Order: sequence, then C-alpha cells, then structure tokens
Amino acid sequence: MSEEYLFISDCHLDPRRPEISASLIEFLQVRASTARRLYILGDLFEVWLGDDDPAEAHQAVIDALHDLAASCEIFFIAGNRDFLLGEDFAARAGITLLEEPHILQLEHSRVVLLHGDTLCTDDHDYQKFRAMVRDPAWISVMLAKSLTERQQLAARLRDDSKAAMKQKTSEIMDANEAAVGECFRASDADVIIHGHTHRPALHRYDANLRRIVLGDWVGEPSFLSWQPGQGFSLSDPRVG
Ligand code: MN
Repeated sequence: MSEEYLFISDCHLDPRRPEISASLIEFLQVRASTARRLYILGDLFEVWLGDDDPAEAHQAVIDALHDLAASCEIFFIAGNRDFLLGEDFAARAGITLLEEPHILQLEHSRVVLLHGDTLCTDDHDYQKFRAMVRDPAWISVMLAKSLTERQQLAARLRDDSKAAMKQKTSEIMDANEAAVGECFRASDADVIIHGHTHRPALHRYDANLRRIVLGDWVGEPSFLSWQPGQGFSLSDPRVG
C-alpha cells in the first residue's frame, strides 16, 4: 500500500455515456487500487436526485467504489449536479461525505478542497440559483417530492441552465481571481484543489500559492496524484 492520494472530479456519469462509467471503473480497479485515499470533488454524476433513486444504471460504479473502499479511504464533496447525494448513498458506496471547503494537511502544504462553483462569482444568476437550491429548507421540500416529480423539475432546470449558458461568456463561467484570493485568505491554504470549470490546469496565484484545477472525464480520465516527497502531478491529456 502506497501513501498516494488521488483526486478526481466531474465524471458526469450518465447512463447515456457508458464509456465514462467503464473508464472510471477501470480507474478504480487498477490505478486507484494501491492508493491510500481517493477524493472525489463533485459532479461524479451528471444528475443525482436523491438516494431513493435505485440508480440501477450506476450499480457497477457503486460496486467498484465499495470494493475499492476496502483498501482505500474514499471521500466525496458534492458538486452542483449531485448535491442531493446523501448518507444512504455513502453507505452503499463505502464513501465518506465531506463539507466544503475541506482542509487537508499534506506534509508542509495546507490544502483546501472544494467543488469550485463557489469561485465562479461572476456568474451572478448561478450564484443566486445555488443559494436557493443549497438551502436546507429547499432540499427537504425537494426530497419530499416523488422521484418522478424531481426528475421532471430537474429536466426543466437543466433546460433553463443550458439556455442561460448560451448567453454567458467563458470568462463568466470561470473562477474569479478575487474569489480565488478570498479562498486563499479564508482557508489560509497554500494550495486550492477544485474542479467544476472543466479547465484542467496548474495555476500559480503567486510565488507561494497554487491552484490546481481538475479536469472532467467527458473525454478521457483525468486525475491528480499526490505522494509524500513528490508532491502533486496532474494527469490530463489537455495539460502538458
Ligand atoms: Mn460542477
């Protein structure tokens, strides 16, 4: 067993794209099998509407997570598409849910983990929407509805969001530098790790502060590795 920590996000698992589930299962069974910890930083699923969804199409991934969890601790931070994922799912998959921002000490680095949507503060409409749907009162009303009702509502929200995204520039949907600076200050971290923007990169905020953006899995597997004495390395076909 190595001391490697792995970080992934934005798999957007979707029954209509079984090849992504297949590559994640392979990653869990092969690449992650010797790791000590795996952090999943949100949007594991394209949509997750509550743990009462039997989600048969995702059973093979859930089984692979559960199998891996026997040797590797698996942690999950919710994204904007799977924030209704709860403790029943966690038990089923053998994972531990974390609140964001989550602080992690890796040797001399203080690391803060988050999904990343909270950094996209130029997108005012989205931030308003987020405040609404992450309100515990909204969530309990939502979860009290039938799964079918939730599916209909989510489909409508997704159509609205797709239409809205066409009006937004790519800058608006990226992390805001001031929000990044505030995140460094508030967390007192040296490294921010997040996903969400699907723009994998290693950014230097200044001489001492780094921001690592995880890639999505829509094309190929993308992951970040950390090992003692070696630090971070981002494996993504789009990052040289
Ligand atoms: Mn996201």
